[in-house]
Amino acid sequence: METKQLANQTVTFHYYNTIVVGSGAAGMNCAVHLYEFMSQKGVPNPEGRIAVVTAGISLGASRMSGSDKQTYYKLGTSSNVADSAEQFAKTLTTAGCCHGDLALVEGICSLREFYHLVHSGVPFPTDDMGGFIGYKTDNDPAERATSAGPKTSKLMSECLQRQLESYGVRIFDSQEVAHLLTVDNSKSKRIAGVVTIDKENLTESNYAINVFLGSNIVLAAGGPGELYKTSVYPKGQLSIHGLAFKAGLLAENLTESQFGLASTKFRWNVSGTYMQAIPRIFSTDARGKDERDFLADFFPSMSKMATNIFLKGYQWPFDPQRIEDLQSSLIDVLVFSETQKGRRIFMDFLKNPIGNASMKKFDINDLEPEAREYLKKAGALQDKPIERLAHMNPLAIEIYKENGINLYAEPLEIAVCAQHNNGGFTVDKWWQSNILRTFVIGEMAGTHGVKRPGGSALNAGQVGGLRAAEYIVNVYSSDVPEYANEQEQIEQQLTRLVNRLDTFKTPSGLIPQEVIDQIQSRMTISAGHIRELNNARKALKEAINLYRDIQQHGFAAENKRSLVKAIQAEHLALASVAYLKAVVELLERGSGSRGSHLVLTDNGIEIHPDIIDKATGKTLGFKPENELLRNSILQIKYDESLPDLFWCRDIGLRPAPTSRKAFELAWRDYREGRIYNF
Ligand SMILES: Cc1cc2nc3c(=O)[nH]c(=O)nc-3n(C[C@H](O)[C@H](O)[C@H](O)COP(=O)(O)OP(=O)(O)OC[C@H]3O[C@@H](n4cnc5c(N)ncnc54)[C@H](O)[C@@H]3O)c2cc1C
Repeated sequence: METKQLANQTVTFHYYNTIVVGSGAAGMNCAVHLYEFMSQKGVPNPEGRIAVVTAGISLGASRMSGSDKQTYYKLGTSSNVADSAEQFAKTLTTAGCCHGDLALVEGICSLREFYHLVHSGVPFPTDDMGGFIGYKTDNDPAERATSAGPKTSKLMSECLQRQLESYGVRIFDSQEVAHLLTVDNSKSKRIAGVVTIDKENLTESNYAINVFLGSNIVLAAGGPGELYKTSVYPKGQLSIHGLAFKAGLLAENLTESQFGLASTKFRWNVSGTYMQAIPRIFSTDARGKDERDFLADFFPSMSKMATNIFLKGYQWPFDPQRIEDLQSSLIDVLVFSETQKGRRIFMDFLKNPIGNASMKKFDINDLEPEAREYLKKAGALQDKPIERLAHMNPLAIEIYKENGINLYAEPLEIAVCAQHNNGGFTVDKWWQSNILRTFVIGEMAGTHGVKRPGGSALNAGQVGGLRAAEYIVNVYSSDVPEYANEQEQIEQQLTRLVNRLDTFKTPSGLIPQEVIDQIQSRMTISAGHIRELNNARKALKEAINLYRDIQQHGFAAENKRSLVKAIQAEHLALASVAYLKAVVELLERGSGSRGSHLVLTDNGIEIHPDIIDKATGKTLGFKPENELLRNSILQIKYDESLPDLFWCRDIGLRPAPTSRKAFELAWRDYREGRIYNF
C-alpha cells in the first residue's frame, strides 16, 4: 500500500494479484477458491494476493433477499431419479438464447460447488441416509432443487465469508466503486484496477480515493436492482453496469429480466407457500380504504380463481405464456393493472379468497385437482390461510416477524416487482469477459437465457467463481501487478475522476436523488414486465437526454451522502440507456412476449375480454413470442460516438461440446494445462 498526491487528493494505492468486486455469494466464493487454488499450487502467502472490495458486506441480493424457501438448483442428488449434466444443460437452454457450453459447465460443476457450500457449513437438509433431498421447481423435470430455508443465499455468503476470514483474506468494506481503470498498450486493453470512494472516510474536501490495482479483476457486483422503481432487489443494490460498459465490456440478453409478485414494505418474494396457502388478495385506494376483491371480476368461479392463486406459488415469475385462458400469470397482469389505477394491493392471510355475488364461497374441496391434492398431501387443509402457511412453512411467517410485519395481524402489501436479470456481461466458458484478465461472475454475468429454473442463479454464481479462480491461478500467474509503464494513463484517469467529482458540487447541477427517481420510474414503466415499442423508443430518447444532461451540468451534491448518490446516478443513467436500447432493438427485431415480459400490440392475443385499452376502447392484446429469435442473442456495447451511445448485434448460440476423450488423453491435456486453451 502507498499513498500519492494527485489533483489535491491523497490517493491510496493497493496492489493485489486479483481484486474481487462484490461480497455476495458469488464474489465470496470466488475469493475462497482463489485462495484454495493458490495454496494447492504452493503459492506463498495467497491471502496477501487476493482482496475483496465491496460497497457493503451486509448489502446485495445474497445477503438481503429471499423467499419462502429460497431455492438452490443443482444437479439431481435423488437416490432414485437419474440425472446428468447434459440433461441439466438441456433444461437451462430449452427456452432459448442460452449458450450451450455455459449451460453444460453449470451442470458439470454443479455438485462440486454444492458440496463446497456444504463443507463451508451451509445447512442444506439431508435425510437419515445422508441424501440431499430435492424437490421440483418450475421448468424442472428432475427434483433438482434444494433449500436451506428462506435465507439460503445469506447463509451461503456468511459461511463463505467465515471461510475467507479464516484464510486471512482481506475484505475492504464501504468501498463505492467510482471508476474502472483501463490501460491500453499496443497489444491489448486491460482493466488494471478498481477506483473506490471510501464511504467511511469521505469528507467534503477529501474524496478518500482508494485504487486497487490487480493483475486480474473479478466483477461480482450483482444485478442492477436500483434501476427499477418497483423492485424486490434490496435497497442499495446498484451494481456497476454503467462503469463496466464504459470500461469496454460487452453484454448480452439485457432484455431478459424477471418480474414477479413480492412484498414492498419489506422486500421479499411471495412465491411458494405464500401463494399455496391461498390468501385473500384485495385492493384499496391510496389511503388503504375502500377494499375490493378485484380478481373476482376476471374469473368465472371461485375454484378457478383460488386454484390460480395456489399455482402462482410454483409458477411464480410473471410468464406471458401463462396468461391466456385464465392461467396463473393473469394474476400478475390484474395486480399491475389495478396499481395503474392508483390502487394498492394486499395479501391477507387471515381470510380465504372472497368472490363476487355469482361465486360460491371458498372451499378447499372445490379446488382443481392439482391444488387440492397438493394441499391434502401436505396436510394443509386448515380453515385459514395463515394456519395453512404455519403448517407448511413456519419460517415464512417468522421472516416477516423479524422485519416488523405480523402476518397474524396485518395484510401484506404486494406489487409486480423486478427481481433478477438473466442477462449481463458476456463471458466465455471460464467466465472471462471480452477483456482478457477481467472475469464477470454471479448476477452480473449474462449466462442465463430467456427462462431459467428457479434457483439456477445461485448455482451459476458458484460455478462462475470456481471457473474464474481456476483459470486465473493456472493460466495467469499469482504475481502482484506492475503497472510502471502505464503510470501516466492511470494518473490521467485519476485526475479526470477528481475533476469530474468536483463538478458534482455545482450549485446549479442536477439533484442526484431526483435523477435516480426519474431513471427508476422510466425503467419500471418502459422496460418492466409490460413493454411496447413506441413507449420504449420514447423512454430511450429521454434516458439519453438525461445522461447527456448529467455530462453537461453535473450534480448539485450538498453533502458526502449525496456525493455518493451522484456517482451512482451517473453510472445508473448510462446503464438505463443500455437496457432501454436493448429493449428497443429486440422489439424492432419483431420479438414478442417471452421470458418474463409481455409485449403489447394492436390486434394481438386478447389478455382478457374485460381488460380494455383506454386509448382505443378495444380489448388489450399482446404479441406472442417470435420463436425464431430463440437461436440468437442480442449483444450490446458502449460507443460514445454513436447517437444512442450503444451498438447492438445478434450472435448465434455457442453449442455444448459433445465429444468425449479417452481418459489417458484427457489426463494428458490436464497435466499439460491444455484444458485452458480449448
Ligand atoms: C427477492 C429475491 C429472491 C431471490 N430468490 C432466489 C432463489 O430462490 N434462487 C436463486 O437462485 N436466486 C434467487 N434470487 C437471485 C439471487 O439471490 C441473486 O442473483 C444472487 O444472490 C446474486 O449474487 P451475487 O453475488 O452475484 O450478487 P449480490 O449478492 O447482489 O452481491 C453484490 C455485491 O456487490 C456489491 N456492490 C453492488 N454495487 C456496488 C457498487 N456500486 N460498488 C461496490 N460494490 C457494489 C454489494 O455490496 C454486494 O456485496 C433472488 C433474488 C431476489 C431479489
